[in-house]
Amino acid sequence: MNNKEEQNIHEFDLNLIFEYFSKLKRQGPGSPEITLKALDFINGLNEKSKIADMGSGTGGQTILLAQNTPCQITAVDLCPDFINQLNRNTLIQKLDGRIKGIVGSMDDLPFKDEEFDLIWSEGAIANIGFEKGLRYWKKFLKRDGYVAVTYESWFTNERPAEIEKWWVDAVPEITTVGQNVSIMQNSGYVPVAVFAIPESCWTDNYYLPQEPRQEEFLKEHRGNKAAEDFISLMRREAHLYSKYKQYYGYVFYIGKKI
Ligand code: SAH
Repeated sequence: MNNKEEQNIHEFDLNLIFEYFSKLKRQGPGSPEITLKALDFINGLNEKSKIADMGSGTGGQTILLAQNTPCQITAVDLCPDFINQLNRNTLIQKLDGRIKGIVGSMDDLPFKDEEFDLIWSEGAIANIGFEKGLRYWKKFLKRDGYVAVTYESWFTNERPAEIEKWWVDAVPEITTVGQNVSIMQNSGYVPVAVFAIPESCWTDNYYLPQEPRQEEFLKEHRGNKAAEDFISLMRREAHLYSKYKQYYGYVFYIGKKI
């Protein structure tokens, strides 16, 4: 293995990553259909209900949640550019009365205990840890409130060393679907629904739109080694997905606070 292959996502400047993804519609695998499928499992939301969307990115799923519930939504993301875009999109969609985007870290939240009926998070919880996130967020949920997150998970008990190394470098705690259900249950939630998101969420909605962005990004950063290495990493990630997709994916975990 050469040095380039050994680099992982944590070695890159966050601003470079933010800049790359800010021009993409999605910052992680997913789709409107799958967001709505997960939302179907949440009962009892009304005009007084409050939702937090953790690691919202530019807000693809946030807008959809607002369009399909009557609730007030607070979106949280570490990246100010993403939150600015989200707030702009919210205005365009005339949802600014119901969505508020704030810059912050999802492991250090400015919320009151038992403030929310639902905590949503697509493709983001790994940044603070699945178990840590579930345990920390629980206090912000009302009793009988829901958590709904997508998280990288192994589909099989064993997998080839190449893909094992890639994901353990990126998400050291990555484990199987079964283990994650146990973690959710041990963290104080009744597992309500668990399903893997379809391949098209990764290919059509995530990797394919990145291809023109990669060409553009390389032009914008001509001669910048870090930018070139970052694009190689993103291309390798997409290649590994096509090679090993039967072994892993994002799984939606929906739980109800006991
Ligand atoms: N939910 C969006 C974005 C997923 S990408 C989608 O599915 O399209 C992960 C997001 O988490 C990024 O927007 C990143 O800026 C954000 N993020 C990473 N660490 C974070 C943290 N500690 N607190 C809040 N957001 C974080």
